[in-house]
Amino acid sequence: MRLQFLGSGGAFPDYRINYNNNAIIETEQGWILLDCGQTASQSLGELGIHPCEIAAILITHMHCDHASPQALIWQRYYSSKKGPPGFLSTPIYSPPDVMELLIGAMAPYVGIYNDETSKIRTDGESTLIECHPTNTCTFGNVEFEFFPVHHVHQGEVDKPAYGVRITQGETRVYWSGDTIYSPDWICDAASDPKTRTIFHECTFSPLISGTAHTHYEELLQLPKEVLEKMVLMHHTLVPEGIDIHPMQGAAARHQVFTW
Ligand SMILES: [Zn+2]
Ligand SMILES: [Zn+2]
Repeated sequence: MRLQFLGSGGAFPDYRINYNNNAIIETEQGWILLDCGQTASQSLGELGIHPCEIAAILITHMHCDHASPQALIWQRYYSSKKGPPGFLSTPIYSPPDVMELLIGAMAPYVGIYNDETSKIRTDGESTLIECHPTNTCTFGNVEFEFFPVHHVHQGEVDKPAYGVRITQGETRVYWSGDTIYSPDWICDAASDPKTRTIFHECTFSPLISGTAHTHYEELLQLPKEVLEKMVLMHHTLVPEGIDIHPMQGAAARHQVFTW
């Protein structure tokens, strides 16, 4: 399995330092884009990957650093002169509750458009977006399974948000998505003998009672054998003076992981 980070930053990084926390996974059907934030097209361009080469986008939740596919959708549709044949719709996969929100949000952006004959049309959502509301999908021999996590959660309010379990043969990695500290699934994931790496979001901001993200200090409560499988992400920068050696590491922009 091969996964490459487009960025490992949070929602508001200085783009000269890091990009939104998105990644691409190689499959026999092409690249799968795991979340599509505002910086995805820029980061792909730096890697020499044209948006038309993306086989599908998976979306974990509705935040700007994860679910901003407008630019990429337009590039796939209108960039035929430069890249591979254009006028491509964009296959998007996400759990049904996220998909409903996403399509509702995208409709004003792509609903009315110019088609390849310069005719103005009003069926943009269904033409430019190929919508797949689902909790599992497979590309080549790589299987993706969304699992629910708590993100922006308090009382009855729980924003629809998901992590992703990615399996190829005997190799499995977990992608936490954006989540508050939830040791139960992390420990289950770590005890799964197939699991090679748990990519987990992490913030180094001062510890407050978590309603959106996971603090570094919270992760340090986990057993050593769990931390050894963990790679931090969504942190933008590891602050100077912090030793993350209990973990496998902290992902950097454009870093490649292979198993
Ligand atoms: Zn985020
Ligand atoms: Zn988020």
